Amino acid sequence: MAFDRFARNIHYLRISLTDHCNLRCVYCMPEQMTFRPGQDLMQNDELLTLVRLFAGLGFDKLRLTGGEPTVRAGVVELVREMAATPGVRELTMTTNGVLLSRLARPLKEAGLQRVNISLDTLNPEQFHRLTRRGSFAQVWKGIQAAEEAGLLPIKINAVVVRGYNDHGVADLARLTEHHPWQVRFIEMMPFGGATDLQRSQVVRTEEIIARIEQVLGPLELLDHGALDGEARLYRLPGAQGTLGFISSVSLPFCASCTRARLTADGKLRLCLLREKEVDLLTPLRAGATPADLRQIILDGIWQKPWGHGLQEGEFATNRVMSEIGG
Ligand code: SAM
Ligand code: SF4
Repeated sequence: MAFDRFARNIHYLRISLTDHCNLRCVYCMPEQMTFRPGQDLMQNDELLTLVRLFAGLGFDKLRLTGGEPTVRAGVVELVREMAATPGVRELTMTTNGVLLSRLARPLKEAGLQRVNISLDTLNPEQFHRLTRRGSFAQVWKGIQAAEEAGLLPIKINAVVVRGYNDHGVADLARLTEHHPWQVRFIEMMPFGGATDLQRSQVVRTEEIIARIEQVLGPLELLDHGALDGEARLYRLPGAQGTLGFISSVSLPFCASCTRARLTADGKLRLCLLREKEVDLLTPLRAGATPADLRQIILDGIWQKPWGHGLQEGEFATNRVMSEIGG
């Protein structure tokens, strides 16, 4: 088992399958983004070797992310191998949904359990403005395909950006009236100086809730406000689904953090919002033994920072979100 200095058992690994993406969301990366060349990324055998090592160290929960995980060649086979890895109990994915209409069923059959799909607005024009190239209709089809394939429960992630989609949050919340989905509103976080917008256009949870309540009436707080992962849950009275609020900026959840990240170029990233990383791919390529690599991972986890410093105005500048694996 892997513990950090603060006695937190770290057992949830978010794996970035690639830093490449078929969208260019304004809150995530610059429009002229440069992606890493293929040889700098973990190859399939390298990735699976590391996954087995992590699973052997008690990492029982894996989430595939990116960049966009579905654009990685052979993603279905990778999922099949990871799902069959001893020790892996939960295998999920965060995706923009663009390719799900084709991939949802094969991914489910390969052993993927659930998906979180990013959808920031129900307005096709706003969607295109936010993603700089995406089609709302395509993602909507992807969500339906995921539901039909049984990748349940469906969770929808919406990052709220002032001047882009802040006026549409009630429409997104309304989706839960007739769908058993969890619609999660995420406070925008700053990374790598990708854009000024990440700091100037943040909408805090308090305001998002007020905007929803103005249109749809008071929300019911669920579970007495206890966190479900990183989200605090609410419900519209009588709704089938729930609303989640991820308040990384206004209400950090660092104390209960159990996660680490593996970047597509093989670095163990200890906190999303801190620069500290431990290189795993270089020693792996240099012939390190499994025992050596296990020790490098355990030593890295021990050094996991207590939490982020967003409230003090500190943020990481060495990578943008798509390069870390959100
Ligand atoms: N491409 C996939 C997607 O968009 O779902 C997976 C990777 S994306 C980096 C993972 C999550 O991070 C998405 O839900 C996205 O909305 C969120 N995200 C990206 N940039 C963000 C930012 N600056 N602040 C908060 N969340 C962000
Ligand atoms: Fe791509 Fe996801 Fe970043 Fe949007 S949030 S640019 S879909 S990696």
